Amino acid sequence: MHFAHGWPQGYYYLYFIGGDYTASSFIDKARITVRAGNGGNGAIAFHREKYVAAGGPDGGDGGRGGSIILQVDDHMSTLMDFRYKRKYAAANGADGQGGRKSGRDGESLTIRVPRGTLVREAETGEIMADMSSGEPFVLCRGGRGGWGNSHFATPTRQVPRFAKAGLPGECYDIILELKLLADVGLIGFPNVGKSTLLSVVSKAQPKIANYHFTTLFPNLGVVWVDEGVSFVMADIPGIIEGASEGAGLGHDFLRHIDRCRLLVHVVDVSGSEGRDPIQDFDAICEELKRYSPELAERPQIVAANKTDIMESPEALDALRIHVESLGYPLVEISAAAHKGTRKLVNLVAERLSTLPPIAVYEPDYVPKAPKADASAPLNIQNEDGVWFVEGPWLQRLMANVNFGDYESRMWFDRALRDAGVFQRLEELGIQDGDTVSMDGFEFEYQK
Ligand code: GDP
Ligand code: MG
Repeated sequence: MHFAHGWPQGYYYLYFIGGDYTASSFIDKARITVRAGNGGNGAIAFHREKYVAAGGPDGGDGGRGGSIILQVDDHMSTLMDFRYKRKYAAANGADGQGGRKSGRDGESLTIRVPRGTLVREAETGEIMADMSSGEPFVLCRGGRGGWGNSHFATPTRQVPRFAKAGLPGECYDIILELKLLADVGLIGFPNVGKSTLLSVVSKAQPKIANYHFTTLFPNLGVVWVDEGVSFVMADIPGIIEGASEGAGLGHDFLRHIDRCRLLVHVVDVSGSEGRDPIQDFDAICEELKRYSPELAERPQIVAANKTDIMESPEALDALRIHVESLGYPLVEISAAAHKGTRKLVNLVAERLSTLPPIAVYEPDYVPKAPKADASAPLNIQNEDGVWFVEGPWLQRLMANVNFGDYESRMWFDRALRDAGVFQRLEELGIQDGDTVSMDGFEFEYQK
């Protein structure tokens, strides 16, 4: 059940699915870039006070970068918004300051998505999250703030002239996917009145045509029942015999009712097309079973439609006996004349309230540990006598070093030596006592 607080009473809302309208795909898709905020840099500062000769280091830490958080919004039904805005970034943490003042944390950014949105990493296609449960999901963590130099004072190093730079925030290219996530799927032969029904109970305006060319695209309508109670109904065209073998478009459409909790099976009982309602009903059930036995077990409510032009009430009675013996309730309606539709909607809502929520994918995404790829060349520059060494792997390497720890510093030293950094500095003419700056840290070079 989707809750819809604040929606005007007595009103139905419509959302069409935007997205890739190809025959094989009815999944709304959007590709966006998300970036968490960088951590602020730690400060290099020294305590200054009148009449105090040599104040200690008091550089504060940088603030943490803001994270990117995904949150379900039940008022959204499409990924349309993401077509217009594709880049999302959270705020950076502020730099630390003197007087041990920490920089302010960057503000996190919450991105709202429709319930049921799947989040994939664009590069690998791996699922990072399924936004079905309503739990917020931290998509990108903000970078940690760097330590100020006040952390780095030791008995032998009372004047640390370095601080740690903030770490970069996580950044991803992601693909959002919204699989048709209807509570209720409309099934039935072409022309029985599925689109008409959806257009009557929701504000959806599916194509209504009196011919056997079924609606090409599934439409999604939100059906408002009562304050705080509404559900999503999908018009799923194309269930015809042979659909489970891939005849016509049926197979593709069938995929979209996978996650429906309840099926409304529309049957034309008017006899106007010379059809037999019981035969039609059984044929669709058979088709469902062939496609997915699991789906065939899904609860159904039978909507006997076109009662306004019914030729023989016997056909309706026979259908009722048939479906009720199978355990399905039957509601007489005339979608075109708006008769019985309210009763049907109420029964659907009642039934949904007793059914388990829509199935959720288990995320199979495990964040990868950062790799230090030493093959990328480092950039070394000398500015005003300071040697600046920069490179992506160096940044990652330094993120793993605890500079307050001797072992850790030795490990770092070795990693630099192995990567040939010292050799390159020598070749470029570095002198004993020169300052080397790496990713915001400053070191004194000693041969
Ligand atoms: P779908 O293929 O199942 O989506 O069927 P449509 O909703 O497109 O309807 C097919 C035709 O049946 C259209 O001409 C509708 O106007 C008509 N129709 C739908 N419901 C009723 C009804 O309750 N009574 C009558 N007389 N015609 C209906
Ligand atoms: Mg239709």
